[in-house]
Amino acid sequence: MTAYDNDNIFAKILRGEMPSNKIYEDEHVFAFMDIMPRGDGHTLVIPKVPARSITDIDPSDLADLIKGVQKVAQAAKTGMDADGLTIQQFNETAGGQIVFHIHFHVIPRWEGVKMRPPASAMEDPAVLEANAEKIRAAFA
Ligand code: AMP
Repeated sequence: MTAYDNDNIFAKILRGEMPSNKIYEDEHVFAFMDIMPRGDGHTLVIPKVPARSITDIDPSDLADLIKGVQKVAQAAKTGMDADGLTIQQFNETAGGQIVFHIHFHVIPRWEGVKMRPPASAMEDPAVLEANAEKIRAAFA
């Protein structure tokens, strides 16, 4: 199994060495906006433990992670006034993974609106922050 790389970009975000539009944090998970969203309000949820993918994360850490995903999903759906949600999780290059710290994508969806292609465009920082604020407000 390939080793976890402590210098991957999400590890740096967790350590506060890289900026992010934070949505939510508890003792187990951290959630922030995807900078190249496939839909408005596209959020990423990551565990605080170092794990590369679904195959190496400890099962109890995975359980904590999916509980965080559900919390973020509820807030994203309410905050973005979405009709639905797409949840994605990719493993290794062959599986579509680009950043090797396990993460779930929470993507708000609306009837008749297609998802944008992966990594298609960097979002305007003001739009990212405005959507982040809508989702944060839904936790209140
Ligand atoms: P994947 O590993 O394929 O599940 O996707 C990694 C995701 O991370 C992509 O959707 C990227 O747009 C996103 N991403 C990459 N770098 C950053 C970053 N610095 N902040 C937020 N999202 C990022």
